[in-house]
Amino acid sequence: MHNAAFAALDLDWIYVPLPVRPDHLDEAVRGLRALGFAGANVTIPHKQSVMPWLDEVSAPARAIGAVNTIVVRGGRLFGENTDWLGFLASLRAAGVEPTGKRALVMGAGGAARAVVYALANAGAEVMIVNRTPERAAALIAEFSHLPARLWQISGVECLAGGTPSAKDSTPIQIDLVVNATSVGMWPRVDESPWPEEVPLPAGATICDLVYNPLETRLLQRARAAGCPVVDGLGMLVQQGAAAFELWTGVQAPVEVMRTALQEERCYVS
Ligand code: NAP
Repeated sequence: MHNAAFAALDLDWIYVPLPVRPDHLDEAVRGLRALGFAGANVTIPHKQSVMPWLDEVSAPARAIGAVNTIVVRGGRLFGENTDWLGFLASLRAAGVEPTGKRALVMGAGGAARAVVYALANAGAEVMIVNRTPERAAALIAEFSHLPARLWQISGVECLAGGTPSAKDSTPIQIDLVVNATSVGMWPRVDESPWPEEVPLPAGATICDLVYNPLETRLLQRARAAGCPVVDGLGMLVQQGAAAFELWTGVQAPVEVMRTALQEERCYVS
């Protein structure tokens, strides 16, 4: 998607994949400066371990605990996280404004951290549910300084359809559900993080970060139930667009990038 964007804007730049072994990480990062790179993306397994080799790491990247973008500026290396920005941009592009809304995030891994950080900073109330409850509790404790109410639930059963919760008779309205787990991802495409026997919250927007396949079982069910849906391609494109703008200082051609991704059959079903 970056090379398509460079071509569309007639920029004489190129984006190349560079596999790096963990024991070569510091040399590879120092090499960016020496080789005249404008920046880089960082992916698994280096998103955390890259931090000590950078001159500066942004506050969001520090809070989320992951750098996915490096910018080389004036010979210095800056670490950023554009996943949280990409997630918010993808919601807003779909007409969903999270401010003042109540969101349920499923998952407590890397993607969930970026999503919870984004939603909390945008002024949403965030409920979190995760297979391993201790991980969700740890995430909430780490983000306790954020200006938002964050709380944990043990399962989605008590929230379904705005119906009374299991413990009391107060209906719980959910405006947005985000699947930030890997459940439903290829090859286990028949799985869904939302139990079949539990109705989806009425009227809630259902967002799935999984992008392979794009139309997950969760999103199929949400469409059938008449819920608005946001698929994982939006975040993927928008985190890339944010990185592109950090590197080039030029507005990213988002639609060109989206089309390039859609044409890459490895990313979509
Ligand atoms: P991760 O750090 O490995 O976290 C995985 C999460 O999924 C954890 O919360 C884990 O729960 C949960 N999980 C895994 N298998 C499960 C199962 N069988 N049942 C219930 N929960 C399960 O992965 P990640 O980096 O956060 O990525 C999560 C998903 O988001 C992936 O599908 C990834 O492709 C997608 N993603 C998309 C974008 C985008 O731009 N659209 C960006 C980032 C990630 P435990 O804590 O209990 O293990």
